Amino acid sequence: MTHNHRLLIDADTGIDDALAILYALRMPGVQVEGITTVFGNTSAEQAAENTLRLLEFADPGCSIPVLLGADRPLLRPLHPHSSHVHGENGLGGVELPRAPRSAGQEPAPDFLVRKVNESPGELTLVTLASFTNLALALELDPELPRKVKGVVSMAGTIDAPGNVTPVAEANVYKDPEAADRVLTSGLPITLVGLDVTMPVRLSKGHLRSLADRAKPEEAALVRFMAEASEAYWAFYGHSNFFVEEAPMHDLLAMQAALCPELFTFQHMPLRVECGGALTTGMVVADRRAIPREGTGVNVCVGVHAERAIGQFLSVFAQEA
Ligand code: CA
Repeated sequence: MTHNHRLLIDADTGIDDALAILYALRMPGVQVEGITTVFGNTSAEQAAENTLRLLEFADPGCSIPVLLGADRPLLRPLHPHSSHVHGENGLGGVELPRAPRSAGQEPAPDFLVRKVNESPGELTLVTLASFTNLALALELDPELPRKVKGVVSMAGTIDAPGNVTPVAEANVYKDPEAADRVLTSGLPITLVGLDVTMPVRLSKGHLRSLADRAKPEEAALVRFMAEASEAYWAFYGHSNFFVEEAPMHDLLAMQAALCPELFTFQHMPLRVECGGALTTGMVVADRRAIPREGTGVNVCVGVHAERAIGQFLSVFAQEA
């Protein structure tokens, strides 16, 4: 389980992004080499502010670069940020102390291209938001698909219902053109969508039990996770009838990157619908015997739900 992973993370730092980032920071053998931000749950600027505060809270003096990216989709008008899900500040209204530094000056797409070119074949990019930054990076360097070790993305859905429209997941829906460009670019992508994120729900009970057995030095982080998750549990209570539990979508993508043994995968050619009246942002899988649409993507189709939750909690817990 503990391999050496060098990660770049692209996020719209809301509640589940925060959990994914904290998990990555604490997983043994993982080196986070930069976090870029994009519009989505909140603005790119607020996401960077949240990321800086989160990093400082988790690791005082942390110097992982944080870079601002796109503040709007490639071609479309900006949809309202998801404050109804993640609270006004993106972190469920929890105010972490200010960090003693600001985001870097380099634009996120330039940073991604530079980092990948400095270490060809070594960096895995985990995207936890719309694909806008990655699409812009591909414009800067069309050879990126041959230089990145892998891309693992929380995005889309194949068989599960959408979460913004009947068929579209939020990260794809908010910038479908970027998603289509990225998914058909030849990048070595693993897609972690609602098919596997919805069945894995972190509950208030899970975090309460973790609070009782957390490593003493992780008590504050676990408290933060529980406080920030309150808004998320409340949203899923009235949107999906879940009782004090919620899928932590981005966390699953991070787990797919770091613990792929928890998942099963299937290769399928994908495109993204960019023009439908009811289907904009739908991920279309060509599962015909002879597929004719799309580019092959590694899609996460199954997950060991209990093991995934247990593995996440174990990272913050004392040894049994
Ligand atoms: Ca996210």
